[in-house]
Amino acid sequence: MDPVKTSSPLRILLVEDDEHDRLAFRLAFQKSQVSCEITEYIRAEEALEQLRADASSFDLVVIDHALPGMSGLDLSKKLVDEKIPLPLVILTGRGSQQLAVEALKAGVDDYIIKEPGPAYLDLLPLVLPEVVRKHGDRLARKQVEGKLRKTNEELKYFAHVVSHDLKAPITHIQGFSSLLLEKYQEKLGENGRRCLERIESNVRRMELLISDLLALSSIGRVVSAFKYVSSLEIVRNVTSDLEDRVNQKGIELVVPDNLPTIYCDGNRIYQVFENLLVNANKFMRETQNPRIEIGCEDKEGFHQFYVRDNGIGIDPKHHREIFERFHRLRQIEDEEGTGLGLAIVERIVNNHGGRVWVESEPGIGSRFYFTIPSVG
Ligand code: ADP
Repeated sequence: MDPVKTSSPLRILLVEDDEHDRLAFRLAFQKSQVSCEITEYIRAEEALEQLRADASSFDLVVIDHALPGMSGLDLSKKLVDEKIPLPLVILTGRGSQQLAVEALKAGVDDYIIKEPGPAYLDLLPLVLPEVVRKHGDRLARKQVEGKLRKTNEELKYFAHVVSHDLKAPITHIQGFSSLLLEKYQEKLGENGRRCLERIESNVRRMELLISDLLALSSIGRVVSAFKYVSSLEIVRNVTSDLEDRVNQKGIELVVPDNLPTIYCDGNRIYQVFENLLVNANKFMRETQNPRIEIGCEDKEGFHQFYVRDNGIGIDPKHHREIFERFHRLRQIEDEEGTGLGLAIVERIVNNHGGRVWVESEPGIGSRFYFTIPSVG
C-alpha cells in the first residue's frame, strides 16, 4: 500500500483586531481542509515583536490594514525594511484599491479585498498557499542569482590573476630561453637546442591558452559599443593579417565584395572571422587546390555568413561537440590550438543574437555558418 501523503500545515501569523473576522478566517480554512496553524495577534506592535524574536515559526503573515495603533501598512513596511523573510499579505476594506497598490509598492506579496459578504473568505485557502510557494521560488531564485554574482566576481578575479601573474613568468621563460639559444648555441649542442625549442613551443602554446581563456572569460562581460560596420572591411583586415599563412600553403582565398554592413561589435566579429579562417587554414592539410571561401546570404531577418574550406572535414558525429570548450578532435601537432577557438566564436555570435553551426564531411571539407540579426 502507498504511504499516506501528509503535507505540513501552513503556519499563518494573523494580525486582525476584529474578532468576527478572526473567527471567519479560521472557519474558512477548516471548511477548505487546507491544513493550517493560525497564531492570532490583535495589535501590530505585538506581532512585530514576535516576528523580530522568531520569524521562523511561520510561513506567512496576514495583516489587516485597519488596526488600532500602528496600521497594517506601516507594519508591512517595517517588516520589509527589517528584511523579515516571510511573505506578507494585506487585507484591505472595499474601496481601498489605492492602499493595496501602496502596499504592493512597499513590498507586500499580495492583497485581498474584504468584500462586505463572505465570498473573499473562500479565496483565502486557495490564494495563501500559492503566495507562500511563489515567495519560496523568488527566494530560491535570489539565492541562485547571488551565487552567480559571486562566481562571476571570482571569475573576474581569476582572469585578473591569470593575465597579470601568469603572463609575467612566461615572458621570463621566453626571454631566457631565447638568450640561451642565442648565446650558448655551441655549448648546448644539437640535443640541448632541440630541448630548448620544445620549451619555447610549449611556452608559446601556454601563452595562447591564457589569452584564449581570458578572451572567453571576458566575452559577454565587456560591453563594447555596437555600431554599423562593413563586414567586408572586417574580413579584408583579417585576411590581410593572415595573408602570409594562407600564401604559404598556396590557398586560394575567395571573398566577394558585396558583404553587408552589420550592426555589431566590430572587434569581436573580427575575432569570429579570424578563428574560423585560422581553422580553415590549419585543417587544410594536403588538399589538392586548397580553397577557402567566405560568403553571406540574407535569410529571414539574419545575415547568414559562411566560411567554407575543402580541408580535412569533420565527422557529423562531432559537429556539436567541437563547439565545446577544450574539445579537439585529434592530437594536432601544432602549437596554435587550444580547443577554445570555436567556443569563443559561439559565445560571441550568441551575444550578438545569432547562432553558429557547421556542415561538413570528412575528406570533403567544412562550411561553418554564423548568423547576425539584420537591423534597420
Ligand atoms: P582548436 O582549433 O584550437 O583545436 P577549435 O575550438 O577552434 O580549437 O576547434 C575545435 C576542433 O574542431 C579542432 O580541434 C578540429 O578538430 C575541429 N575543427 C575546427 N575547424 C575545423 C575545420 N575548418 N576543418 C576541420 N576540423 C575543424
